[in-house]
Amino acid sequence: MHYVYCPECGEKLIDKPAGDEGLVPFCEKCGKYRFDMFDSCVIILVANEFDEIALLQQNYLSNEYRSFVAGYIKPGDNAEQTAYREVKEELGLDLDELTYAGTYWFELRGQLMHGFIGKAKKKELVLSQEVNRADWVHYEKAPELMFPDMPGNAMHPIYRQYVASLGK
Ligand SMILES: [Zn+2]
Repeated sequence: MHYVYCPECGEKLIDKPAGDEGLVPFCEKCGKYRFDMFDSCVIILVANEFDEIALLQQNYLSNEYRSFVAGYIKPGDNAEQTAYREVKEELGLDLDELTYAGTYWFELRGQLMHGFIGKAKKKELVLSQEVNRADWVHYEKAPELMFPDMPGNAMHPIYRQYVASLGK
């Protein structure tokens, strides 16, 4: 989101030079730059000890394709805390291991996605209300169920890192 008015006081912003950034919207009343805003989110491939991946069906996203656990980072939390929390909330799982898997710009929604690979022991999934269905799917079968591989979809690059880590 590009600010035209100050999000705190409502004053119309002016363009002001900000070092290497060039011209940045500035609020003269608050004395603050108002940089473009975007959501910061996590997306986690959750795998178990049988090389299975948790795929979620969330009808508000799609009836056709499955996704990984994802969620918004809240102010005060870091990406790792958010990843542990979201996996617990959406699938009822405690992760034993969490590995960073890069960041991805999701153009469609203007979100920066922080990718992770999480490991958990296989057990029955306990779903949140946001999740209509979730299953453990063997990693070789997962791509055909996932959202299609296209620029901006973090699922596949994270999936490829996971498969490479298996060394198979
Ligand atoms: Zn202001």
